[in-house]
Amino acid sequence: MTEAVDILVTKTERSKLQDINLENIPFGKYFSDHMLEADYENGEWKNVEIKPYQPLLLEPSLAALHYGQAIFEGIKAYKDDKGNAWIFRPQDNFRRFNLSAERMNMPVVPEEIFIQGMRQLVALDRNWIPAKKDHSLYIRPFMFSSDAMLGVRPSETYKFLIILSPTGPYYANPMKIMVEERYTRAAPGGVGFSKNAGNYGGSMLAATEAKKQGYDQVLWTDSTEHKWLQEVGMMNVFFIIDNVAITPDLKEGTILEGVTRSSVIKGLEEMGIRVEERKINIDEVIAAYKAGKVAEVFGTGTAAVIAPVKELNYKGFRMEFNPDNYRISRHIKSWLNDIREGKTEDKYGWMVKV
Ligand SMILES: *Cc1c(COP(=O)(O)O)cnc(C)c1O
Repeated sequence: MTEAVDILVTKTERSKLQDINLENIPFGKYFSDHMLEADYENGEWKNVEIKPYQPLLLEPSLAALHYGQAIFEGIKAYKDDKGNAWIFRPQDNFRRFNLSAERMNMPVVPEEIFIQGMRQLVALDRNWIPAKKDHSLYIRPFMFSSDAMLGVRPSETYKFLIILSPTGPYYANPMKIMVEERYTRAAPGGVGFSKNAGNYGGSMLAATEAKKQGYDQVLWTDSTEHKWLQEVGMMNVFFIIDNVAITPDLKEGTILEGVTRSSVIKGLEEMGIRVEERKINIDEVIAAYKAGKVAEVFGTGTAAVIAPVKELNYKGFRMEFNPDNYRISRHIKSWLNDIREGKTEDKYGWMVKV
């Protein structure tokens, strides 16, 4: 840890926790008692504060609303059965956050604000971590440009915040996926590898159109041929073909490097399964499917951890899978959850104590 930062703490007078039923909580709907807020001005971060969760007062000319310099992260905190609070791989999210910041021409956030601030905030709101299987406290750090100015240029001022939301299981049901042929999420040279708000904005219509046809999400493809596979919705995608795990590589900058993705790769290797990070196109998947060799298809991400796919539709050709038989991804999911909940040895040092 680098030098400590002074964080001004103002506590709420009354916790909202007593008003909320932590059973069956919808994802991202309830927020804990406190938030962290910091301002970037004149080349430095200042006013680092933890205070009661509250609305922001913003100018209508706020640069982020017009020109979209806005990035975020998603991290989870867990409670073990002794009541200790732990955060899963926050350093990886910290590094990725600053990669996103650089790509979006925004200032980096120092570790002592991102990590130390997060730990202090989670410690203060530790009662908001549900101590239940598949439950956690979702941590949302984010930053946006805050100049009140319509001139097109990188903003000179920014706000960094962290908010916390208790959460239960995310996508419970296996997904039906449409292979996207029209829209593009990311192209080489673009911003696909960064976790910026616009990537999400640009993806919504494709998902909505897939839903109209009875599908849950799309499988993103490359911008020219619409054949090379990228990600499933806002998750990284894995195929188990012939007992080999295949996931698209990161070389072109069109894939967001998921922390779950990298954890799943470790888990697969521990299981003795070969992992190939490489280009994969839909024709290869179709050929393997016809040969009966596609055992599993799933997405990975912090919110859902692992989301099984039960159908892929490419130009009307439907490939059906049976997630009840997904031995590998089920094993990986419980292995990861056991590490997170303190039931399995954390040999990679992924859990950071609050
Ligand atoms: C956040 C995100 C992921 C998953 O990353 P994790 O670190 O595993 O949560 C995958 N794809 C996209 C596009 C994302 O925004």
